[in-house]
Amino acid sequence: MKPRVGVSACLLGQAVRYDGASLPQAWIQDQLPRYAQIRPFCPETGAGLAVPRPAVQLVRGDDARIHARGVEDPRLDVTDALHQWAATQAGELQVLDGIIFKSRSPSCGLGTTPLFNEKAALLKTNFDGIFAAWVKTSFPGLVLCDDVQLVERHGQERFLAQLQKK
Ligand code: SF4
Repeated sequence: MKPRVGVSACLLGQAVRYDGASLPQAWIQDQLPRYAQIRPFCPETGAGLAVPRPAVQLVRGDDARIHARGVEDPRLDVTDALHQWAATQAGELQVLDGIIFKSRSPSCGLGTTPLFNEKAALLKTNFDGIFAAWVKTSFPGLVLCDDVQLVERHGQERFLAQLQKK
């Protein structure tokens, strides 16, 4: 049986991004289905956010918690909605072998997402999105990567080899 791989839906050409666009990645869309069963997911639309919607970014709050807050309007806070949706995905994640995340996203970024403080100063550029962080903590056995790591052939081959070892 082919391994099962969750994929950020915008990488598969689904128009679920905040601006109503998608960011399809050719290898993931066209080649990966030869080697894996694809399970699209989108934490933000899964959490009930609209398309299009206001952009959010990660902010370390004065409460020391990581928030996903509106870029234009910091009063918009979708952190709890994202955590609540993530908790509903435990069953789905248990049957996956790996996940491909969209880089730099406040929900999906895997060590590539900018983190700001309450004063909008950039603290880090290598943070995890809210959903990716939850997956790393809750399902440490999954093979994880992002779209950037799959641009080059050696990254594609490494990811497929890691899946085969599962
Ligand atoms: S990066 Fe993640 S949350 Fe954002 S549109 Fe893509 S799948 Fe949805």
